[in-house]
Amino acid sequence: MTAPAVRIERVSKSYGDVRALIDVSVDVPRGACVALVGESGSGKTTLLRCINRLVAFDAGQITVFGTNVLESDPVALRRAIGYVPQDGGLLPHWRVRRNIALVPWLDGAPDAAARAARAMAAVGLEPGMAERWPHELSGGQQQRAAVARAVAGGQSLVLLDEPFGALDAIARSDLQAMMIALREQSSLTLVLVTHDLTEAFRLATAVVVMRAGRIEQHAPPADIRSAPATPYVAALLARAGVES
Ligand code: ADP
Ligand code: MG
Repeated sequence: MTAPAVRIERVSKSYGDVRALIDVSVDVPRGACVALVGESGSGKTTLLRCINRLVAFDAGQITVFGTNVLESDPVALRRAIGYVPQDGGLLPHWRVRRNIALVPWLDGAPDAAARAARAMAAVGLEPGMAERWPHELSGGQQQRAAVARAVAGGQSLVLLDEPFGALDAIARSDLQAMMIALREQSSLTLVLVTHDLTEAFRLATAVVVMRAGRIEQHAPPADIRSAPATPYVAALLARAGVES
């Protein structure tokens, strides 16, 4: 049996007295898009950042494609896993082309520029954008560039932390459509943090509802809609205006 892309087993994490994650277990199958949803402070970002070891967890185990992340070099791990933070994280003093080519360049790929160009095409960025500075792009274009950077090195697993949360509704919808197309053409595995249930239902193969560091429900979107496991999940659906 092939290992899932990510296996999170009984992971806990505290920041001082704050218990951010309590005994959390989630499998992310290869090719899946798992959405982590829940109120602010529920532990979504902490869980996402445990996967690439930007957060050091206290207990439990995480494997990525079958390898225990604690046995991987953290720098190599972070290079192998795409990561898109909410603000995109583009380096402001580097042109778009260089930002996108960062990982293949660090990997010493002789075709780093060509990889960056392919990634730009895959996210729907005009080639002319390559010579711009990040601040010369719109918010939507910046997030496209951030996604391009996260896949340009051939990463097959990408972690996205509320990547479209700051965009207006039209740009957000366009970026969601782009992510759906990107998944279809490049067989990516995604872990997507979002507070937008509608976005989760549109993009995800499975939705994980988090509450105060624990998992409230983990199910396919249709099941969350039709059979919310707890009054909390039902209330979340009602508040988002999603018909159950
Ligand atoms: P979410 O992404 O769902 O908003 P977070 O994972 O950011 O949740 O936060 C979970 C909890 O951990 C919150 O109570 C938050 O205040 C706390 N927390 C997160 N990061 C830190 C940190 N670096 N230091 C102290 N507390 C933190
Ligand atoms: Mg967060």
